[in-house]
Amino acid sequence: MVSPDIIAAIATPPGRGGIGVIRISGKNLVNLAEVILGKLPKPRYASLSQFLDAKGQIIDQGLVLYFPGPHSYTGEDVLELHGHGGPAVINLLLKSCLGAGARLAQPGEFTLRAYLNNKIDLIQAESVAAIIEASTHEAARCAVNSLQGHFSARIEALVSLLITMRMLIEATLDFPEDEIDNLKTLQIRERLDHIVTQLEQTLSAARQGNLLQEGIQIVLAGAPNVGKSSLLNQLVEEDAAIVTEVPGTTRDTIQRTITIGGMPVHIVDTAGLRETSDIVEQKGIERTLAAIKRANLVLRLLDSSEHRPVAPDPIQQYIPADKPRITVCNKIDLMNEDPKMEGEGHNSIIHLSAKTGAGIELLRQKILDMAGWQFNHAGEGIFMARQRHLEALTQAKAHLVNAHEYTDTEYQLELLAEELKLAQYALSAITGQFTADDLLGEIFSHFCIGK
Ligand code: GDP
Ligand code: ZN
Repeated sequence: MVSPDIIAAIATPPGRGGIGVIRISGKNLVNLAEVILGKLPKPRYASLSQFLDAKGQIIDQGLVLYFPGPHSYTGEDVLELHGHGGPAVINLLLKSCLGAGARLAQPGEFTLRAYLNNKIDLIQAESVAAIIEASTHEAARCAVNSLQGHFSARIEALVSLLITMRMLIEATLDFPEDEIDNLKTLQIRERLDHIVTQLEQTLSAARQGNLLQEGIQIVLAGAPNVGKSSLLNQLVEEDAAIVTEVPGTTRDTIQRTITIGGMPVHIVDTAGLRETSDIVEQKGIERTLAAIKRANLVLRLLDSSEHRPVAPDPIQQYIPADKPRITVCNKIDLMNEDPKMEGEGHNSIIHLSAKTGAGIELLRQKILDMAGWQFNHAGEGIFMARQRHLEALTQAKAHLVNAHEYTDTEYQLELLAEELKLAQYALSAITGQFTADDLLGEIFSHFCIGK
């Protein structure tokens, strides 16, 4: 997977800007530097230089930074050329680099090299991408925590506890005659309990970090005219930072992302759910059902001003029984009702008005609750985690639970040791100690070029 060649890319975003940066990394950049700059610049100094093409003509001038390996981002020689940020000039400069022996970098290839050269572990590499992707301040702070190694340190601490325990057990296996006495003094169960507690704390922090990174998916579902679009507008209006907006037609679905307490919330407004023979609307309904399936939470809207018995609710049948939901009785202003919340958990009912905004705060709080969000001043003490990390932590925990069973009635040391080993491997995959090439390809292909 590692290729010894020289890679180059424009590291600044496309378009015009004050400066445009080209990054170059390779084992040896002497020849390239001679063509582009006339000579190798002084290491770790910012120097002014002319940038040349293959014929020695001046393309631009700007600052040059040179970091000889291994003390660089990638662990190889790295050059940064800070030229003027116009598309024409920066592309000419890139072309000149390609002519001087570099090839275009793949997405994430600089960070991949940093990982392969042991400058950072896999969590840190992923957090670089997460910092760039982050859509809220809190998510960015959380990703920086991971880049600083807070998450990796927790994983390494767990791995080291597991290794110690495995060594103790292996030693006991070699001297079976003292086994029982040894096991008492080694406090196998106590050690195991301690590791499980630590792992659970890490998992819970990682879940928060994952929520912060990915947010939750909410679907607004209800018959036409109950006030779905009005509720979405009300939520968006109250939130100053609209992150993204994906428009659709009135019969289509519309997705908006807002933040509640720092957590990204992706809300899909749907076509009204009702039986129909209209082809276009039928498509809208199919999309609605698909959106409900994907959602973490459904907001089921009712119009409280309609004097319909609630029991034969046509919407109900479309929402899977185990799907978390909040029932929203809208339009309380028409009834002169005050906002309120009834019931709890999956059976919560919130009475509000999408028109006046009364009761919206109750809804926002309830959404955070249902998402399992615990940090209101988000980003402190938690770290970025991806689905992959949560799965590995969960898997490690399952092995530890198995391991515990082998200490319950009588000690079955071989089996116990095996489960500990599997738990350790699951954790090590998080930091990238044991990681398949295809996983690496998957992780780095989502990076932007030049990172
Ligand atoms: P949707 O079809 O479910 O998206 O419903 P809309 O949001 O388009 O609303 C349908 C109608 O109900 C519009 O005329 C809204 O102004 C009105 N409406 C929505 N919410 C409220 C509310 O809380 N109070 C009152 N009085 N009218 C509302
Ligand atoms: Zn609507």
